[in-house]
Amino acid sequence: MIVGGGQAAVQAVDVLRRKGFKGELSLVGEEPTLPYQRPPLSKKYLSGALERERLAIRPETYYAGHAVKTWLGRRAVQIERAAQRLRLDDGSTLPYDALLLATGSLPRPLPAPGVELAGVHFLRTMADADRIRAQWADARNVVVIGGGYIGLETAATARGLGKEVTVIEMADRVMNRVTSPELSAFYEAEHARHGVRIVNNEKVQELRGDAGRVRSVITASGAEHPADVVIVGVGVLPADQLAREAGLACDNGILSDEHCRTSDPNIYAAGDCANHPNRHYGRRMRLESVDNAFEQAGTAALNILGDVTPHDKLPWFWSDQYDLKLVIVGVCTGYDTAVLRGSPAQRSFSVCYLRDGEFIAIDTVNAPKDQIAARKLIGAHGRPDSARLADPSVALKDLA
Ligand code: NAP
Repeated sequence: MIVGGGQAAVQAVDVLRRKGFKGELSLVGEEPTLPYQRPPLSKKYLSGALERERLAIRPETYYAGHAVKTWLGRRAVQIERAAQRLRLDDGSTLPYDALLLATGSLPRPLPAPGVELAGVHFLRTMADADRIRAQWADARNVVVIGGGYIGLETAATARGLGKEVTVIEMADRVMNRVTSPELSAFYEAEHARHGVRIVNNEKVQELRGDAGRVRSVITASGAEHPADVVIVGVGVLPADQLAREAGLACDNGILSDEHCRTSDPNIYAAGDCANHPNRHYGRRMRLESVDNAFEQAGTAALNILGDVTPHDKLPWFWSDQYDLKLVIVGVCTGYDTAVLRGSPAQRSFSVCYLRDGEFIAIDTVNAPKDQIAARKLIGAHGRPDSARLADPSVALKDLA
């Protein structure tokens, strides 16, 4: 039994059936649609360049072909752990031997008056993207609150459609949660070059409207930014309510062990909702990425089948903004040295992060060779020489 209708759910189905699981398999998803890819929601789907049909992770026939019973548009409201049953919002109950929680995450609310005005949107689901597309067709001014992945990707998309775009970020730089000041500065300059106004160090005070529709965003400094459409991307919270109410151990997500098992041995967790021990970094993490959902769900499925397998993957992330392909390998938290390789001016470079001499993460911008070679080096806890790392004429693969 799988709760959640995203990337993790599909991967679990794939692995369970591929490894010969012949039992009953159910998938409960709150959204009325079959699992679809979320990454294009802030990019090509939002711009209208990608059709809805192309978002599906698998065609409809896949679910029947893999004997998966789908419960879509249904919310799981209670896990009856003693009876090993899942209760749905229509009152029905489904029995399980093993349960995988792949419930993902939910947009963090914006604590500002006026957030309920028409024209103010969060962006998490296909339905959210559809509403934005319908509303911004004749909008001139788009204000984006939050300079993270959603904020910057949406800003680039809106700019591509000719909108006037302002990004309001609370911290002193964009993408501060995931990258270094060097990379933030590069992205701020790129957005400015494309005509996006980025306002850092500003808190949203109020969203002002008339006749129930948003008209402007007021910040703590008193500035007023005209807005026909507002998109809020101020982070996510793990969707762990079901787990918490069932008494599973949770702390910034559902606590799972290296086999993706929660504090109940019959219940597993994977993806954005799971706070898991990361072997490579030797500490707990909750990761928000497609790759993590995919890999962890695969590991959980193996363990459900009794194939005891520790989750041991180096995380990676990507973001497309304009013609820039950012790929982040590893997690740079706690780095003490940042080494630049290549030339930001030529728009192909990398920033390598080291901690006590160990290569712990890399951000690559339009630099696929670095990205591929760095995976091996970081995965092997490599300790490359900083001077050679900084020399783009030395291939990363030769530093192994
Ligand atoms: P995010 O990447 O965590 O960024 C949220 C940003 O909003 C942070 O910089 C945060 O600053 C800022 N913020 C928080 N409260 C604010 C406020 N009141 N006013 C202005 N700024 C505020 O999250 P996201 O962009 O909302 O994305 C949501 C989820 O979708 C994440 O899990 C993300 O990883 C995922 N996503 C990923 C991609 C990708 O990987 N390419 C693309 C789209 C979405 P602080 O850090 O200072 O709080």
